Amino acid sequence: MKLSEANSAKREGLDGILLTIMLIMLLTTLLLIGAIYKFVYNGNHLYILWTAIFMLLVLVIIGVLLFVAGLTLFLLWYNKKIPKPMAVFAETFIPYLYPVLEGMGKVLGYDKNKIRRAYTAINNRLVYSKSYSYRGEEILILSPHCIQKNTCPHKLTVEVRNCTGCGKCPVKPLLALADKYNAKFSLVSGGTIARRIIKESRPEAIIAIACERDLVGGLIDTKKIPVIAVINIRPEGPCVNTLVRLEEVEKAIVHFIGG
Ligand code: SF4
Repeated sequence: MKLSEANSAKREGLDGILLTIMLIMLLTTLLLIGAIYKFVYNGNHLYILWTAIFMLLVLVIIGVLLFVAGLTLFLLWYNKKIPKPMAVFAETFIPYLYPVLEGMGKVLGYDKNKIRRAYTAINNRLVYSKSYSYRGEEILILSPHCIQKNTCPHKLTVEVRNCTGCGKCPVKPLLALADKYNAKFSLVSGGTIARRIIKESRPEAIIAIACERDLVGGLIDTKKIPVIAVINIRPEGPCVNTLVRLEEVEKAIVHFIGG
């Protein structure tokens, strides 16, 4: 299957999830509008007391928030430009979206990884909708160590430059990409080490390569730094000899340097 076909198949699956979410948000908004209407036109003005006004305000705020969140998701999903205030709003609410997505996915019987892919896709679209102009050295490429060939004798989690460039795994081309743009590149053996490296190297932007589960965990942890998530390829199953689409990594670097 060609990459473009794979992408479009993946997208079709995720579209269902996003459309369901938007539909639920729209229905909730309509229900709230109905509740507001009932408050105002119930024919008994004694109801319009402080409590009723307060509840009305709460309903209006929730309704507006849901509407804006739904509209933002819709625009992001269909790669439309979003106004700056909407981007700021999206940055705030997206980290809290995952538990909602996960809960709805469970109820609707969606595969967990599909939900995680939808979440990383929304995150990426938000980051791609914004402009950046970072220097290469302000960008950190983070990859799990399972990208290294499992027969390779070199210890790369301490120093990725221990790679001798035999070309049997993606570490060599990833190092070449990092060098081309002067970006930082680290291989990590887990979330704790990843957090330590982020703390020490203080990047302005991160390109995270990992499986869906680790990416979602990382995105929720790293709220203040823009992260482009690149899902790895696992031809031999999870956590062994994984691969990555280099063009996705390069596209992310180019975006962060403002190319
Ligand atoms: S490219 Fe580097 S990391 Fe990969 S197998 Fe060869 S020496 Fe090891």
